[in-house]
Amino acid sequence: MNRAGRFAPSPSGELHVGNLRTAILAWLFARSTGRDFLLRVEDLDRARAGAEAEQLRDLAAIGVTWDGAVVRQTDRGAVYGEAIARLTAAGLTYECFCTRREIQEAPSAPHAPQGAYPGTCRNLDPAEVEFRRSNRPAAIRLRAEVAEYTVRDVLHGEFTGVVDDFVLRRNDGVTAYNLAVVVDDAAQGIDQVVRGDDLLSSTPRQAYLSSLLHMPVPEYAHVPLVVNADGARLAKRDGAVTLTDLSREGVAAAAVRDLILQSLGLPRGTLESALSAFRPLDLPREPWVWRRL
Ligand SMILES: [Zn+2]
Repeated sequence: MNRAGRFAPSPSGELHVGNLRTAILAWLFARSTGRDFLLRVEDLDRARAGAEAEQLRDLAAIGVTWDGAVVRQTDRGAVYGEAIARLTAAGLTYECFCTRREIQEAPSAPHAPQGAYPGTCRNLDPAEVEFRRSNRPAAIRLRAEVAEYTVRDVLHGEFTGVVDDFVLRRNDGVTAYNLAVVVDDAAQGIDQVVRGDDLLSSTPRQAYLSSLLHMPVPEYAHVPLVVNADGARLAKRDGAVTLTDLSREGVAAAAVRDLILQSLGLPRGTLESALSAFRPLDLPREPWVWRRL
């Protein structure tokens, strides 16, 4: 299996300039290091009919090329089930019956970081589990044996973050993002993960899970997001931010690609022509502020 980088959008709508910029960065990181570049559709949740085709069309329009077939997470339920079964066989999972509200209202465990699952269901006795199963389907949580974990990131250096008993499978049967992403990256030979820095905080959970599953931990690069003039993460309500909107205003895909390359301190032109100027450590470390065109 070739070494690979990837872009893994959720097909919830059209990609906006921020998503496209992250895709270009992931492509540059992968291609500049001789890696394959794979596309994975993270459609376990929030999928909108037709959005995947729009996203692939827009990636192609800005010059992002990829290798092999697109992988969809909804096709991979059996693989996720096997990984959860392995963890369960090793005593590393438990069933959780908490509602969102119960978790919010539970007193947090001493020394537990803010937002961490308080461990309510960690040590239920079997009779209690039996009784609760009859009332409410269980979520499956990881029985974490650490409270934090350290990862290395190309742009952020060493980063230590919270590991709690996070959910592996929700109580509606949907595989949780943290489990799917770890299993998929390993299965696809992805050893370089480039994505928005809003995901840095969940990376220690994923790397810890990789270690429990005896899967390699990829190299990470968490890149700055694109924000609006108020400093908030760019969203559809910030005006013309998709290729469709922008083309209506007379801005062609190639011009959007050039704006993105400029924002990265790279020459305008094709992505291939930007490769020779691409230096990861010279990338801007601040968010890019998108101004209405
Ligand atoms: Zn619980």
